[in-house]
Amino acid sequence: MDALVDPFGRTIRYLRVSVTDRCDFRCVYCMSEDMTFLPKSEILTLEELDRLCSAFVRHGVEKLRITGGEPLVRRNILSFFEAMGRHLRSGALRELTLTTNGSQLERHAADLARVGVRRVNVSLDTLDPERFRRLTRWGRLEQVLRGIEAAREAGLRVKINAVALKGDTEEEMFDLVQWCAREGHDLTFIEVMPMGDIGNEMRLDQFWSLRDLRARLAERYTLTDLAERTGGPARYVRLEETGQKIGFITPLSHNFCESCNRVRLTCTGQLHTCLGQEGASDLRAALRESGNEDLLDDAIRAAIRLKPKGHDFDYSRGVGGRISRHMSHTGG
Ligand code: SAM
Ligand code: SF4
Repeated sequence: MDALVDPFGRTIRYLRVSVTDRCDFRCVYCMSEDMTFLPKSEILTLEELDRLCSAFVRHGVEKLRITGGEPLVRRNILSFFEAMGRHLRSGALRELTLTTNGSQLERHAADLARVGVRRVNVSLDTLDPERFRRLTRWGRLEQVLRGIEAAREAGLRVKINAVALKGDTEEEMFDLVQWCAREGHDLTFIEVMPMGDIGNEMRLDQFWSLRDLRARLAERYTLTDLAERTGGPARYVRLEETGQKIGFITPLSHNFCESCNRVRLTCTGQLHTCLGQEGASDLRAALRESGNEDLLDDAIRAAIRLKPKGHDFDYSRGVGGRISRHMSHTGG
């Protein structure tokens, strides 16, 4: 089957799939507390998700990242991971992975490892229980730490993702860096992106530039830039004193679009070919109209032809540069 090549010559090898828009946390930068979720009928069933993901794998997608909302709160989600495991065993898929808030990892880590997951990204912005409660509104730090421990015991490699927040991360970044060094976890900082209505909080109040974070890090450590790229927005440095690798995801300050090999599927079957653009293609219609895989393949190819050259994030342009959908809908 032909690989998916977009009009700018980029071959699509990486699919992120949001399997639910629901979550057991309400992180202040992601959702409002009284978030309204989509009706179940709009959400793809696990069988539909299987059909769609398998179509992408047929077209040369080698890496599948499951996200949400919180992927591990979706009922029976392990059966979906298990189903995707067959593409690992066939050799079509090189990696099956997930991004999670960690709250349900304690009970799922061993099964995830059993079906072939090797790495997991856990979002953790703070090691302080009070701050954790304030930032996630509904989460409990202790439960997430137990989840991370369970992942390690199951042999999963853990990467911690921390959103850079003015004030909070400024105070705590060295604790996070040192904890990750001790525990052997990779660490990536993410700049807050202007996505979705999150209630009263002001985006610009939350935003802390990774340029500032990096400068602060360089006051204590020797930073060596690493050439390593994943096709995504992350850049990496090594801290010479500890040997740790630290990632930076800076969609607002850097342009990474030319090497972008990824697309995102929402839990309703919308394919977003760019995180920073509003446009999407509806694959659910093609999926539900018939059981014909040729029609689905055509719809996927047509969607990839619409992948834009680059993103459109810009705080300075006010509303025009913001994206109205939530990260939990598109999948971070
Ligand atoms: N619930 C899972 C979790 O938190 O890992 C998966 C979905 S969550 C939307 C994926 C990632 O997006 C998390 O690391 C989260 O911190 C990040 N995120 C959410 N809203 C964001 C925003 N407005 N800007 C930057 N990152 C955001
Ligand atoms: Fe839920 Fe993840 Fe959004 Fe936090 S960042 S509210 S854990 S989806």
